[in-house]
Amino acid sequence: GLPVLAVVGRPNVGKSTFVNRVLGRREAVVQDTPGVTRDRVSYPAEWAGRRFTLVDTGGWETDVAGIDASVAQQAEVAIAMADAVMFVVDATVGPTDTDEQVVRLLRRSGKPVVLVANKVDSPVQEADASLLWSLGLGEPYPVSALHGRGSGDVLDAAMAVL
Ligand code: GDP
Ligand code: MG
Repeated sequence: GLPVLAVVGRPNVGKSTFVNRVLGRREAVVQDTPGVTRDRVSYPAEWAGRRFTLVDTGGWETDVAGIDASVAQQAEVAIAMADAVMFVVDATVGPTDTDEQVVRLLRRSGKPVVLVANKVDSPVQEADASLLWSLGLGEPYPVSALHGRGSGDVLDAAMAVL
């Protein structure tokens, strides 16, 4: 089958917005507030002439206490089925404990990871993206999934490891 690229990260970091950006249409459901439980959704996608399966992940508990465990669980399943992973972090928030938890899962998996520093809507926010070098996953790609900024570069990087 086609290679699988999974998009993982905390709720509200912009995973579904990014997926829609890649698909070129609004198919993945974008949530303004966490609270809707959804599982993984696979989409046929294409970039630079290469076809692949793009997996959006969601599925989190409505109660705040459950979010960490749920994110980790979702991420673990998605990472296991993926050939490469796009790890999305909200650059305006910076790395959280939950992000660090996902980083440990990613390391353990040995799968190639591309780090998406999302919500970098303007050049002045690129300093926020640089702070994500601290996650130890290599270069953070500054992206605005909302406006499309940087999405081509990060997709090129993903294709190079997929
Ligand atoms: P998900 O839970 O990770 O799938 O996040 P969503 O894609 O549902 O987005 C959560 C919220 O963040 C929505 O209100 C989006 O419009 C917003 N968002 C997503 N990407 C960006 C971005 O690049 N910049 C800004 N400013 N907001 C974004
Ligand atoms: Mg989503």
